[in-house]
Parts: sequence; C-alpha cells; structure tokens
Amino acid sequence: MSGLDVTEGGGAGRGSGGRQGDRPFLRVFFRCANQYLRVYRTVDGTGYRAICPLCRKRMNFIVGPGGTSERFFEVSC
Ligand SMILES: [Zn+2]
Repeated sequence: MSGLDVTEGGGAGRGSGGRQGDRPFLRVFFRCANQYLRVYRTVDGTGYRAICPLCRKRMNFIVGPGGTSERFFEVSC
C-alpha cells in the first residue's frame, strides 16, 4: 500500500474536536479513472484515505509534521 505525508495547514494545536460537516479534504485525481475525488479526513484525524473508483487502488495520506501542504494530488494507477 502506498502513502504520502501531508500537514494540516491551519497551524498547530487546533485540537481534535472539529465541527462536523466542516472536515478538511484533499482533491485527488485518479489517472486511470480520469476523475477527481474529494477525499475527506478520517474521523480520527490521522489522515485521508482515497480509493480509486475504477481500479480500487488505495492511497493513504497521513497527517503529520514534515508532510507536504499540498491539497491536490495526482495518483497514477
Ligand atoms: Zn485507478
């Protein structure tokens, strides 16, 4: 399984009790499906989990320090 590290852009220490319905998301382009997906952060806030709608390839984006602040990704699958 492949993965990428990302950071949260809102600054450190925003706490864990985020508002429902206001979850951050990434935009992920799956090349084989030729589709953009909006991928919401997991409930526990540790990352983003994208699944290609066509080939079902999984891509994990882990939230952590030192990751990229990009919010758009392209997956070759
Ligand atoms: Zn795919």
